[in-house]
Amino acid sequence: MTEAVDVLIVGGGAAGLMCALTAGRRGLRAVVIEHANKVGKKILMSGGGRCNFTNTGTTPANYLSANPHFCKSALARYTPWDFIAMVERHRIAYHEKELGQLFCDVSSKLIVQMLVDECLAAGVRIEIGCAVERIVHNEGDTGFRVHTARGGFAARSLVVASGGLSIPSMGATGFGYELAKRYGHNVLPTRAGLVPLTLSGKHQERLQDLSGVALPVTASCNGQSFSNQMLITHRGISGPSILQISSYWQPGDDLRLDLLPGLDALDWLQTQQRERSAAELKTVLGEVVPRRFAQRLCEVWLGNKPMKQYNLPELKQLAATLSEWPLIASGTEGYRTAEVTLGGVDTDELSSSTMQSKRVPGLYFIGEAIDVTGWLGGYNFQWAWASGHAAGQAV
Ligand SMILES: Cc1cc2nc3c(=O)[nH]c(=O)nc-3n(C[C@H](O)[C@H](O)[C@H](O)COP(=O)(O)OP(=O)(O)OC[C@H]3O[C@@H](n4cnc5c(N)ncnc54)[C@H](O)[C@@H]3O)c2cc1C
Repeated sequence: MTEAVDVLIVGGGAAGLMCALTAGRRGLRAVVIEHANKVGKKILMSGGGRCNFTNTGTTPANYLSANPHFCKSALARYTPWDFIAMVERHRIAYHEKELGQLFCDVSSKLIVQMLVDECLAAGVRIEIGCAVERIVHNEGDTGFRVHTARGGFAARSLVVASGGLSIPSMGATGFGYELAKRYGHNVLPTRAGLVPLTLSGKHQERLQDLSGVALPVTASCNGQSFSNQMLITHRGISGPSILQISSYWQPGDDLRLDLLPGLDALDWLQTQQRERSAAELKTVLGEVVPRRFAQRLCEVWLGNKPMKQYNLPELKQLAATLSEWPLIASGTEGYRTAEVTLGGVDTDELSSSTMQSKRVPGLYFIGEAIDVTGWLGGYNFQWAWASGHAAGQAV
């Protein structure tokens, strides 16, 4: 038996649920098909279980995309304040952690519950544990026939909200990319983003036993810089500054770390020389970066002697190394731990105001499946809400 619906949404994640509740509120018959055993799994695990659900400072500059203009329209029409209004209406307590990042006080579960409640109130049906088996759409057709484990649907609009490839154990699939290609869309190469970087060989050996040491750095690569904590792990480096820069890094790219962010390294070294002339470099350095890390820096990269014994060219050399420490990463931890997938469905063939395919009327792509990827800090959910809302208004 085939059931006629207005819109069928494949993927019950952040973008899919937002699209569904938006379409449902307009009186459309909307059905969400989710193959996992529950909706919003990534929302549940996000932000350490407290979901960093938006960022109040969201601008298009916080996103990576082959077309940096694409995200502008949707972000302007559904802002962080629109989502915050819904969160407040549901009396979900939240707080700002830092840099405009809003987190739930209690649990990410409340965000999933809010979205599900809004969907149900809008008459949306959610089918969990339901896989799409086949989609039929012939040229000239005005809709889509979708065969699922729960029977067939005839849908006027089909919204692909199946997300990216990160965390396959949570239900991530390449469904959206494959479907896009099948309908003639270009899919830009995908790679893991917001992901720890790995080191190998002597680079790894030099830092491995410092696993767990954290310090603030400014990480720079390909013209982008992020200042925040770096964490040394047993396989490489992580922490917010590294996750952020990982989206701009590819194997072979030059990665530099300022180990004294906010300080003029030469000025600082000269001050130490004047005021602490008998103290050794590793001692003074150990007062501004973790002591074990300072020691390792001196053993492997900087050398060590009393401050008074350095001449100016040597101090300049030290300053250059400290403020542009070159770290050779060998790769990333990959999709297994990545928060997002860079690349995806090319925005060139989508309408930026509706997310509709320019090739196949009635077909929409939203969320992470599209080549729009946010920074760390609530930007990815804001894109999911905004793109889901744009499509939900248009279907
Ligand atoms: C560990 C972790 C923490 C994160 N923390 C944050 C954070 O705090 N703030 C932030 O902004 N972003 C965060 N992100 C990123 C954010 O979760 C994603 O960008 C966002 O969920 C993307 O929304 P989406 O709806 O496009 O995809 P998803 O939320 O991934 O939803 C896609 C859905 O489609 C389903 N699906 C896939 N294939 C099929 C299929 N063939 N049939 C049916 N269903 C299918 C999946 O099971 C999934 O439920 C985090 C990501 C991870 C992995």
